[in-house]
Amino acid sequence: MENVGLNVEKLVVGPLMSNCYIVWDEKTLEALIIDPGDNVELIVKKIKNLGLKVKLIVATHGHFDHVDGVEKLRKKTGADFLAHKNDFPDKEPKSDRYHRLGFGGALKPDRCIDEGDIISVGEYQFDVLHTPGHSQGSLCLLHNSIVFVGDVLFQGSIGRADLHGGSFEQLSNSIKSKLYTLSDETIVYTGHGPSTTIGDEKRYNAFVRS
Ligand SMILES: [Zn+2]
Ligand SMILES: [Zn+2]
Repeated sequence: MENVGLNVEKLVVGPLMSNCYIVWDEKTLEALIIDPGDNVELIVKKIKNLGLKVKLIVATHGHFDHVDGVEKLRKKTGADFLAHKNDFPDKEPKSDRYHRLGFGGALKPDRCIDEGDIISVGEYQFDVLHTPGHSQGSLCLLHNSIVFVGDVLFQGSIGRADLHGGSFEQLSNSIKSKLYTLSDETIVYTGHGPSTTIGDEKRYNAFVRS
């Protein structure tokens, strides 16, 4: 199915200016919220104005700037929260770096998702890609020629690999094997800053070359 009727709206939220995405099917008005890091009132207002029914909340990874609004939004919408288990361990690691970074330790996903899983938003389906390196539980969501990547890849840059669970080698490998293999015209919705395309990053990204 083409992208016609699949809508994406970006809201910039919180002190680190994270991108929260509202994704919905025009026909059924079912919606998915990606990375509600903050400003839940603003997100809820937008949802109400658009008349959407939020079915799912997905975190691209567990950093606080992407998950701080999850609990509140989950209560307000009744939606299920989905994320990768690696960023939401049952027991918090005893690591300074882990806590400095503010992983959503107490936050529990309703369902854990991983590579190969499929998420439905109305009549549209998204493939889950596991892309570790920025964090061990980093995920991307792919539908045809659009992909949500969180902090894995940015316009002209890549996510930090020096935080808890980070690895440059792994991040580089995730980008090369899971993202640079997508078609050049694929639109990349990033976790911070402007959107880009796979073709542009393959051509101009100085951090990870194709
Ligand atoms: Zn992050
Ligand atoms: Zn971030």
